Amino acid sequence: MLLGGGHAHLQVLRAFAADPLPAAEVLLVTPWERLCYSGMVPGWMAGHYAAHEVSVPLPPFAQAARATLRRAAAVGLDAAARRITLDDGSTLDYDVLSLDIGSVADSDAIPGAAGQALAVRPIEAFAERWERLADGRDAPPRCLVVVGGGAAGTELALAAAYRLGAATHVTLVAGRSGPLVHYPAGVRRRMRQALDRARITVLADRCVAIEPDRVVLAGGARPACDLALLALGGAAPPWLAASGLALDDGGFVSTGPTLQSLSHPEVFAAGDVASRVDAPRPKSGVYALRAGAPLALNLRRALAGGRLEPYTPQRRSLNLLSCGERTAVASWGPFAAAGGWVWRWKDRIDRRFIADHQAPR
Ligand SMILES: Cc1cc2nc3c(=O)[nH]c(=O)nc-3n(C[C@H](O)[C@H](O)[C@H](O)COP(=O)(O)OP(=O)(O)OC[C@H]3O[C@@H](n4cnc5c(N)ncnc54)[C@H](O)[C@@H]3O)c2cc1C
Repeated sequence: MLLGGGHAHLQVLRAFAADPLPAAEVLLVTPWERLCYSGMVPGWMAGHYAAHEVSVPLPPFAQAARATLRRAAAVGLDAAARRITLDDGSTLDYDVLSLDIGSVADSDAIPGAAGQALAVRPIEAFAERWERLADGRDAPPRCLVVVGGGAAGTELALAAAYRLGAATHVTLVAGRSGPLVHYPAGVRRRMRQALDRARITVLADRCVAIEPDRVVLAGGARPACDLALLALGGAAPPWLAASGLALDDGGFVSTGPTLQSLSHPEVFAAGDVASRVDAPRPKSGVYALRAGAPLALNLRRALAGGRLEPYTPQRRSLNLLSCGERTAVASWGPFAAAGGWVWRWKDRIDRRFIADHQAPR
């Protein structure tokens, strides 16, 4: 059972399509039939791409992999019984389970957020609401506050300012250390210049409450807010807590080098939902995609026999952050560069990914 149609499982389906699994029944359980390619979300928000240009259809890949696609979301997992419960109340049993369900919005982290903020996860639901704002079906906010100073929050603030224009004032509440604290100084400086160019107010403070017309910050400021966008780091799906699987402190599934759960070897996990105990890495689409091929190999061996292979994710990855307008900032380790050419480079990489994944070869 492949639970979740995320970046890693897309690669698993491709691998199974190229070399079908003999004598195994493969089931893909996913609430959405398209995978939203995360790297292009800020570009789509800014209006540079249409929604269909930034997502990949899952049914052709499932069909090519001879997998049955079931449209549903899991709401429970009993690892001892090898059973998942779906949101329609039904249950499904598995012999081998692979989890690639991403992370969820941590709406409980800030009082008032659950009722009043628009969370970026699930990205599919966020996309529907954003389209309505961007094309004017819903009145655009006068004061938009983005809560979260990581890459997602910073890119979203820039994309929103570009798309909504001068009628909307954008504020980025970026935490005490300011935006992109985990990035090298060169990236922070270039992204700060982009934020200044876009006239985004950056507040190095923590949001402690969201009220109907303002946000409340730890330092006492209460900036006006018609709409808050919540872009905090993703949280683990809460129902995993009762699954019986070994979890890390954040509630993510602890896995080892073969991508197997540390407590239940018949359960595999990759992407944001997994936590590599031996090789921790940032949660990102890049790492989720890269885990797909080794995951496919080890699922195949778990079913058909053979030694499972350890997988070590790369230490560094190329980071490309978009700046709302058609410019971007690239970083590789300590090196950084910015400009229109970086955007065109990123655009080529992203469009090639989408083109390569419109249908299985
Ligand atoms: C705004 C934004 C911008 C980002 N930009 C970048 C970027 O430029 N580069 C980058 O590398 N990363 C980026 N990220 C991070 C990236 O989105 C994630 O790290 C990546 O999507 C993780 O991939 P995944 O396969 O783990 O999960 P996902 O891609 O989130 O896929 C999980 C899938 O599982 C499904 N699912 C969820 N719950 C269930 C359930 N209960 N049952 C069944 N299915 C379920 C979901 O519908 C989804 O289709 C960005 C994130 C955000 C929010």
